[in-house]
Amino acid sequence: MTSYMEHRDLANEITEAARAQEIADNVRRTLDRIRAAEASAGREPGSVRLLAATKTRDVGEIMAAIGAGIRMIGENRPQEITAKAAGLRRMCAERGFALGRDESDGSDGGSIHIPFHLIGQLQTNKIGKVLPVVDSIESVDSLALAERIARRAVARGIEVGVLLEVNESGESSKSGCNPKNAIDIATRIGIMGGLRLQGLMTIGAHVDDEYAIRKGFERLRNTRGLILESKAPGVEGCTELSMGMTGDMEYAIAEGSTIVRVGTGLFGEREFI
Ligand SMILES: *Cc1c(COP(=O)(O)O)cnc(C)c1O
Repeated sequence: MTSYMEHRDLANEITEAARAQEIADNVRRTLDRIRAAEASAGREPGSVRLLAATKTRDVGEIMAAIGAGIRMIGENRPQEITAKAAGLRRMCAERGFALGRDESDGSDGGSIHIPFHLIGQLQTNKIGKVLPVVDSIESVDSLALAERIARRAVARGIEVGVLLEVNESGESSKSGCNPKNAIDIATRIGIMGGLRLQGLMTIGAHVDDEYAIRKGFERLRNTRGLILESKAPGVEGCTELSMGMTGDMEYAIAEGSTIVRVGTGLFGEREFI
């Protein structure tokens, strides 16, 4: 178990007004950054969605972000999803939102859906924990993992969204499949029962070099293009490009990102990890 989880009660629902205001100001600033980057890239306003990367944040902080306009959540660790999901879903329902996968009879029709994504590594023994909660898994980086998720999804009678994570920076510390294998894995995911291929995800190069960072994002966009052009069965929905974080979202938006995953920019520096 990760040590910070012993230091914080992630299920805490109470947030001081000043902290909630700080998060709300950050949400507004981040949305402004996205709108400005869309405009300077000549892209449609609203073509980039903001996912709040909520690792280490508690339920109250996440609800403050949702109250300020956040409409997509991403968690890294199945343990954190377990700690927060019930509180988040209850508080969302009280505010007219439906967070994550809905396995009920659909009686809460009319509420606004907030997609819940897994964006961190997933071990096989945790698949069963996340499937009842998340709509999409952005961190699928191998055929073997895709097959294991597919088997569990079929057994539950559900379909889970998948983004294939590609290691475009080549940094060994990063997860993601080898770019050389991306098209092959994507086309195989396309025909797997229980999975719906939605797009590609990458983490930008950890360097201070605009050219190198943008090249990685450009390669991810080109890979998506090749996958769509293949017209292989089941790849027609492979449209999302989840790329860009607090430090590099402008570059990612210029290169075609459709989802930026932002943590620090919304909640401040992380105390743990
Ligand atoms: C933490 C995290 C982010 C957000 O990073 P920030 O630099 O805090 O914006 C995005 N994607 C993944 C996969 C992460 O783990």
